[in-house]
Amino acid sequence: MFICQKKMKSNMEIKLDRYHINRKIYKIKLKLHKLYLYIFWPFIWLRNYILVKNFPFLEPQCGWGIDMCYLPKGYKYNYEQTWLDCLSSSWRKKFGLAICKELKQAIKQYGLKDYKVCQVKEKFGTLEWYDEGGCDATINVINKYNKISMETCFNCGRPAEYVSTNWITYYCPRCAKRKEKKGIKCVPIKK
Ligand SMILES: [Zn+2]
Repeated sequence: MFICQKKMKSNMEIKLDRYHINRKIYKIKLKLHKLYLYIFWPFIWLRNYILVKNFPFLEPQCGWGIDMCYLPKGYKYNYEQTWLDCLSSSWRKKFGLAICKELKQAIKQYGLKDYKVCQVKEKFGTLEWYDEGGCDATINVINKYNKISMETCFNCGRPAEYVSTNWITYYCPRCAKRKEKKGIKCVPIKK
């Protein structure tokens, strides 16, 4: 009887079930993340404080988040987040500090006092780092890491060899296999 009922489920129903399960998982993850922030806030604060002291451009001054183009008047930065939080954890581990160090060097070398970051995100599977007050040297650094991001698995940071065909993201062979199991088509990267 049970098997019959299971067979009767249409593809649409299976997709809906998956959608509800994923939504539940997402909500649990969100709660766990809030708990993590609640427990570890002194460490997060200290880490961000040190980061911003070393790399002042990591403090968001405009365009923070998706729907906030300008910071409200009287906004006071509280070290809750830095621009590095906009990177995936694997990218952050792989080249988060490296890009900051190289940008700092370029800023120092060319005396770019007004350099500021406007947005950091992933687009078409690669790193997008929008800024103001830069020069050719900072553009070169950003282009270099844009290329590196294309060669780094978005999930785990291993060398990427595959790319998903729908929503473009670069994956290592292991993560690509996992994505294929979830129905996301991946093809080898053309070199
Ligand atoms: Zn991977």
